[in-house]
Amino acid sequence: MANTLGIVKPDGVRRKLVGTVLSRIERAGLIIRGLKTLRLSRQQAEKFYAVHEGKPFYKPLVEFMTSGPIVVMVIGGHGSIEHWRELMGATDPAKAKYNTIRREHATSIEKNVVHGSDSPATAKSEIAFFFDEDEILPKE
Ligand code: UDP
Ligand code: MG
Repeated sequence: MANTLGIVKPDGVRRKLVGTVLSRIERAGLIIRGLKTLRLSRQQAEKFYAVHEGKPFYKPLVEFMTSGPIVVMVIGGHGSIEHWRELMGATDPAKAKYNTIRREHATSIEKNVVHGSDSPATAKSEIAFFFDEDEILPKE
């Protein structure tokens, strides 16, 4: 029953897809345990995506992720890490399954609307990156 981190990226916020994303999460039976809007500094974005440092898409990605506000959320519920990745779809919208957020709404492999942690260890550190313990609803 581990929590995971979700983000509506700047393209999603700009295009008013926050409600759509939240609605999909709730409809899937997952639980929103924490939620906030913020804008990443360059330093924060570099740190958050440090695992991709040196890759050709790293610098443009940092640029993109700091280009406007984002919505970060703690998503809970059974199998939340895998379930949220499934709702998002593959990184490249052209390869994402039908009826996934990225397939339906992403405009490129970079501007793909949402982020999701990819493992329990990543989920833990990514949640701690944005949320204090007392900002997350406890599990019932
Ligand atoms: N990205 C990109 N070009 C690529 C691969 C990734 O612009 O060739 C961006 C995209 O926004 C992606 C993020 O970098 O969501 C992180 O990449 P990752 O491989 O971790 O994909 P994700 O876990 O988000 O599906
Ligand atoms: Mg990733």
